[in-house]
Amino acid sequence: MDTYKNLIAGQWVDGVQFAPNINPSNTGEVIGLFARADGGAVDAAAEAARAALPGWSAAGPQMRHNVLDAAGNLIMARREELGRLLSREEGKTLPEGIGEVTRAAQIFKFFAGEALRLAGEMLPSVRAGIDVMIERQPVGVVGLITPWNFPIAIPAWKAAPALACGNCVLLKPAELTPGCAWEIANILKQSGCPDGVFNLVMGEGSVAGARMVAHPGIDAISFTGSIATGRDIAVQCAQTHKRVQLEMGGKNPMLVLDDADLDAAVDACVNGAFFSTGQRCTASSRLIVTDAAHDAFVDKLAAATDRLIVGDALNPDTHIGPVVDQNQLTQNLSYIALAREEGCEVTGGGEVDGPGFFQRPAIFLGASNQMRISREEIFGPCASVIRVADYEEGLAVANDSEFGLSAGICTASLRCANHFRRHAKAGMVMVNLPTAGVDYHVPFGGTKRSSCGPREQGAYAREFYTVVKTSYWSP
Ligand code: ADP
Repeated sequence: MDTYKNLIAGQWVDGVQFAPNINPSNTGEVIGLFARADGGAVDAAAEAARAALPGWSAAGPQMRHNVLDAAGNLIMARREELGRLLSREEGKTLPEGIGEVTRAAQIFKFFAGEALRLAGEMLPSVRAGIDVMIERQPVGVVGLITPWNFPIAIPAWKAAPALACGNCVLLKPAELTPGCAWEIANILKQSGCPDGVFNLVMGEGSVAGARMVAHPGIDAISFTGSIATGRDIAVQCAQTHKRVQLEMGGKNPMLVLDDADLDAAVDACVNGAFFSTGQRCTASSRLIVTDAAHDAFVDKLAAATDRLIVGDALNPDTHIGPVVDQNQLTQNLSYIALAREEGCEVTGGGEVDGPGFFQRPAIFLGASNQMRISREEIFGPCASVIRVADYEEGLAVANDSEFGLSAGICTASLRCANHFRRHAKAGMVMVNLPTAGVDYHVPFGGTKRSSCGPREQGAYAREFYTVVKTSYWSP
């Protein structure tokens, strides 16, 4: 059995123990044994990052560009193999896995360019004869805590801008998917990233993650995961004076109006609700449909969902891979039972026999927006269908959520689409597109309880990973 160690100060280091990485399509298959860091390993990684910081922050844009560009090239060259690893450890289908790896490579290439474009500003002071210079400097040592659902893209979209802006990094990936994060660490090492600039501390959230959040030598934490953990991290970051960025849940609405192209709307809803096994914070989990379109929409949605093949992530016929683990499957099944208790008619949703955590996509018909199944993030292939009278009621229902990540509308009406773009209370709006599926070169993030702090990705990522310094110059 292959073992994979943590990367601290440029050295591969054993953990206090090694944990198996299990394939959710076939639980008898162990992908490898991965080190688990304790608090001491996090301390060592933080010390290494701090020691490397003066060199890296002064290394200049060409050096940072070269490392990130080389990493992007290496990921791209290995995208099929890494996509396979991703699908084996996380369970999304192989095309989705390869797609995510490709995106990670593009993110590294994008931030290789951004390293060269970290411009400041110079302007005259309001006082005659004085100049004012505004520049961006690295925040320092940043801790990145990532979830299992995008095991290569999320580490990439946090690590690449952090490094591009001259910070040193500790990455703690999710316990369920350390394989892709290990590959990123290995690729950065092969790309000439100096020792200590990027450190990998695989381990438990309550041990390695908690130590990072509490550590006085770490200046900022960027976290993606659950609301409960994010809230605890925010409190601790306030107590230890850390800059914090949180990306958490979603309960994303897709509003389908009478005038929508129903086949296209159904495609967008099936994709948004069920692809990647619904395990996306941008998944369309509330399908809000106007009265006149409702019955035809439901017939087409049920038929399209029925055609989806659930199975092994590596099987070329599979549309929907397994749920990530037994806990998540148990949670999904309990929400399906709750949907019935709350009065919905449920189509699909059953467990599927096999060596993995397979579940058929579930549609909750006759749902209301007040039901728990429509308010709480399930994080599985489950969607509520909510009937509304018209666009105005649909918009009100779409916005009636404690989340605000992504919101979609399917319509032929320019007036409604434009009104929705302006008034949807979400960080991202999709017109005639699924709520999930975003570009890598533009900002990502939400409103309300979905997000906290500056946006991730695109040029806006620098807002989190730099500190602005203003200097005044008199001749
Ligand atoms: P999920 O339910 O998706 O696993 P979590 O919020 O539990 O979401 O996990 C997201 C990431 O946060 C993982 O890397 C996990 O190990 C980490 N984590 C969990 N608990 C803590 C904690 N107390 N402090 C820091 N990180 C944590």
